[in-house]
Amino acid sequence: MTKRHPLQTRHEALQMQLELDDMKTCMRRFTLEEIEQADDMECGFCLSCGFMSGPAGPDARQYRCEHCGAHKVYGAMEVALMGLTE
Ligand SMILES: [Zn+2]
Repeated sequence: MTKRHPLQTRHEALQMQLELDDMKTCMRRFTLEEIEQADDMECGFCLSCGFMSGPAGPDARQYRCEHCGAHKVYGAMEVALMGLTE
């Protein structure tokens, strides 16, 4: 495990916040049923194309999407926490 510079981490956090704000405007939303189903199977969703990924932890973030290649696969609970429900 490499130690990260605190500033770098902070920068990344800011970057991620910006990305999240940006994503929220054009992201697809998921129904509670979809989220519950994915949570049961410990799957995640790609916020870019809506693809339900293979097993990703419930707290997965920025995993690579097998479908479109975007690093936008988030665990089901993360998606719910971000308020991306219909
Ligand atoms: Zn995708």
